[in-house]
Amino acid sequence: MPRAFPLDAPAHPVKTARMSSATLTIDLDAIAANWRALDAMTGTETAAVVKADAYGLGADRVGRVLARAGARHFFVAIAEEGVALRQALGPDVAIHVFSGHMPGDADMIGDMDLVPMINSLDQMIRHAEALPGHPFGVQLDSGMNRLGMEPEEWQAVRQIALAQNPVMLMSHLACADEPDQAMNAQQLAAFRAMTDDTDVPRCFANTGGVLLGGDYHFDLARPGIGIYGGRPYTDARPVVTLDIPVIQCRDIALGETVGYGCDFTAPRAMRIATVAAGYADGILRAMGPKTSLWAEDTPCPVTGRISMDLIGVDITDLGRDPSHLQLLGPHQGIDVLADNAGTIGYEILTSLGARYMRRYIGG
Ligand SMILES: *Cc1c(COP(=O)(O)O)cnc(C)c1O
Repeated sequence: MPRAFPLDAPAHPVKTARMSSATLTIDLDAIAANWRALDAMTGTETAAVVKADAYGLGADRVGRVLARAGARHFFVAIAEEGVALRQALGPDVAIHVFSGHMPGDADMIGDMDLVPMINSLDQMIRHAEALPGHPFGVQLDSGMNRLGMEPEEWQAVRQIALAQNPVMLMSHLACADEPDQAMNAQQLAAFRAMTDDTDVPRCFANTGGVLLGGDYHFDLARPGIGIYGGRPYTDARPVVTLDIPVIQCRDIALGETVGYGCDFTAPRAMRIATVAAGYADGILRAMGPKTSLWAEDTPCPVTGRISMDLIGVDITDLGRDPSHLQLLGPHQGIDVLADNAGTIGYEILTSLGARYMRRYIGG
């Protein structure tokens, strides 16, 4: 018996798929411009942090456009990300790994010419035994208590470490996006105390650190979020646009409810559009009550709970049925959505879903 729905049926034509899924547009020119602007704020060299698939925007495309803009140093979180980036960028850039040298990483680090940021004596021994002579950096803890050697540990091993010529000494700021935080100066002093009497290149500033000024820049700055258009770099060019198709529009009467849990009750006769994206696409449920989608210049509030694949939107005052609505764009960036959801732009970006049709412009 032939199957009613053969499993080997041809895939839907691409055109159909594109029209039914939301479109995430990533502006590579804005990414390059943001990196150049951050680079111009430092008198030193500037790297790019492209961990977590370049904050969700695609490490291969983002990496290539930044390499063309002049970036020669990249940072990733784990060795596997470094492997993928090496394949995208070729041999001419340095790729640094924040997690250092983890068990099982030696082949990736060696074959793909990655530079582990060694976090502990254990890692240093592992690295020296597995890949003697292979370049490494050292990550120092200046107070964040997340990664890196503590001052006492560094004191104990620094002579051995320095004898092996690390390519870089780095540390990370816990509060760089709060310029008035006393922690910044404390960490700066701690980092300097651990490194001033070495001649190894130093790397300290994330995006917030770049904005804190020259004392924080050292030899290599390593911004991430600012490149992608997020706070604290408020002058950044916006990078992402998200357009979501409308599936259906309907009239509801005063007193009717919309969506799960009947959370929203219509205070008047209304028209509701249902759009094709939801929390499975990274549109966090928590942002619902404060968030609008935009029909060109008209804000259309979310009505009811954000569901997995769908969102109800109030288009009553729009006076027409739109074909799509915009969640991210000129009227509303990642930091607005972050505020609406009680989170940060980093989480909005890295949550952006796999189901979007991703379109790169510029570059
Ligand atoms: C993520 C990260 C950065 C980049 O920070 P931004 O705030 O995104 O600029 C720099 N250094 C380390 C160690 C990081 O984990």
